[in-house]
Amino acid sequence: MNDRELIDEVAECIVDSGKTVVLTGAGISVESGIAPFRGKDGVWEKYNPEEYGHISSFKKNPEKCWIMLREMAAEIIKAEPNAAHYGLAELEQIGEIDCVITQNVDNLHQDAGSENVIEFHGNFRFLKCLNCGKKDKVDNFDVCNVTPRCECGYILKPDVVMFGESLPVEAYQKGVNEVETCDLMLIVGTSAVVYPAANLPFVAKKNDAKIVDINLEKTNVSRLLSDYTITAKAGEILPAIVEKVKEKIS
Ligand code: NAD
Ligand code: ZN
Repeated sequence: MNDRELIDEVAECIVDSGKTVVLTGAGISVESGIAPFRGKDGVWEKYNPEEYGHISSFKKNPEKCWIMLREMAAEIIKAEPNAAHYGLAELEQIGEIDCVITQNVDNLHQDAGSENVIEFHGNFRFLKCLNCGKKDKVDNFDVCNVTPRCECGYILKPDVVMFGESLPVEAYQKGVNEVETCDLMLIVGTSAVVYPAANLPFVAKKNDAKIVDINLEKTNVSRLLSDYTITAKAGEILPAIVEKVKEKIS
């Protein structure tokens, strides 16, 4: 099947499905200028994840972790949603998808207008103090130039899940419930190797849901689980799928 035929098939699946959930990863925000962790130009090419992305590293040497975090912050602060985020928001608005489960921390789904967003890894728009528990908006600090500190003196941590930290229990449970009851799962821009989010496609498959993945390259999901794989940019494919869906329901 060529891309045009695949887009048509996937649009048909969306229209036929009673409940569609979406799982997104860093790849959906690459076209908004935010580097992913893995793959070409990924953050891990420059920074060792154990050294810069682990909670124990942050506790030991937060200033050092902020060298990487500052780079991420600079990209996230100026990023705008792209056509893929807007496409998913539109599919939700017209009642064709139920929710977006995201591993991203950039708030771009919400900025694009998605309402039912389940965040597995927190959100960079907030900072949290590991000492006194206080939370604050990232906008209240000049994080690109100065390491942010809490009133209590401790260096603040982005309110995101670092390696070695557990996922927010409530978000995870909600995500699993959504996936267990869906009959179509769209997987967009994730290498699907970060657990426990990487479990969700298996949960969907076990419950006989159809699986579609959209990624620049083949992933384990494409190889093991997908009914349809579209190997292309999310920002190009999703708007085309939305147009097809609208054509089919009009
Ligand atoms: P990842 O970095 O492991 O993988 C990104 C995937 O996106 C790759 O498989 C790549 O082929 C694909 N991709 C790249 N550009 C694409 C495009 N234009 N269209 C479609 N696919 C594209 O990402 P991950 O699996 O989400 O895991 C990394 C973790 O890092 C996430 O859980 C998240 O917490 C964090 N992270 C978040 C952001 C963000 O919020 N934007 C950015 C970097 C890392
Ligand atoms: Zn504090």
